[in-house]
Amino acid sequence: MSARYDLADWDAAVSALCAADEVAIACHVNPDGDALGSLMAAYLGLRQLGKRAFASWGTSPAKSPYGYDFLHVDEALTQPAALPRTDTFLALDCGAADRLGELEGRASDSRCTINVDHHPGNDQFGNLNLVVPTASSSAELMMRLLQDCGVQIDRAIATCLWTGVVTDTGRFQYSNTSPETLRLASELLELGVPAPDLAGEIWGSLPFAYLRLLGLVLGRAKLLADAGFVYSWVRLEDLEATGTSLDEAEGLIDALRSTRDADVAAIFKQQDDGKFRVSLRSKGPRSVGEIARARGGGGHELAAGFTADDVDATVVGIRRDLSR
Ligand code: AMP
Ligand code: MN
Ligand code: MN
Repeated sequence: MSARYDLADWDAAVSALCAADEVAIACHVNPDGDALGSLMAAYLGLRQLGKRAFASWGTSPAKSPYGYDFLHVDEALTQPAALPRTDTFLALDCGAADRLGELEGRASDSRCTINVDHHPGNDQFGNLNLVVPTASSSAELMMRLLQDCGVQIDRAIATCLWTGVVTDTGRFQYSNTSPETLRLASELLELGVPAPDLAGEIWGSLPFAYLRLLGLVLGRAKLLADAGFVYSWVRLEDLEATGTSLDEAEGLIDALRSTRDADVAAIFKQQDDGKFRVSLRSKGPRSVGEIARARGGGGHELAAGFTADDVDATVVGIRRDLSR
């Protein structure tokens, strides 16, 4: 039988994980549902095999973001400064080593770094690289990797994996949803994943104050019709005025992208340091991955991000890029 996904390193990664007594696992900073779900699935799966597993990501302090309480990440989490040095290091959902933040050094220091990811521009920073750009999510890859290591996917692990798949596919609506994704989803449902409950947790549990923030952000949205570009922004004072936090603002981009008058959408989210995290989405064929990479960020062709100092100047640049 050929290795899964025809990856040269797949079998070696299975062997390395099976042989390891302890494994440090990390996902990317500002973890999303796929990063958290993959992290927790790996943590639970490796522990089921009797290994010492440590879960972290490279932000101090690391704290589970809003909306994912049901994954119980905080109970599993080791702060990055306390993460033990292990021979085997599992990096999840990171398109490049710098996405590991404070844990970036681990990717090069560890004897065996396993890079499990689905970002197209992944720079293969691991000793073993399981990079499949056609996979819906890192969770999809983690499911098969854990199974090949002999893990029984129980309901708790299936819940983590489901979270990764549904968040990265936008509930099975994006082009990364393949027949294989749906096969995997059906396996997860058969394992007892409470899909409606999880949808309620992930998308239906925002505080009322979020509606005020949504109103503000949609009210000030700008459409550059000639460029097919819609954008808006959230400043720190908006969070204060509405009593919301940035964690709760992850869904704003989905509201912006719902107009047919634009095929590219951006939301600028101001961080505590004053800079803006920019989320970009395209309905295709234009690549926002390219726009993000040109500005020091990254992502997929249709969903990408980067960090910017200023809204207006950045919009001028994006408009220019889109008009090319
Ligand atoms: P987001 O808009 O934060 O949901 O991110 C969309 C996609 O872009 C995800 O695949 C992220 O991993 C990626 N991404 C977001 N911000 C960055 C960044 N600063 N550097 C590299 N990739 C990013
Ligand atoms: Mn991610
Ligand atoms: Mn992902």
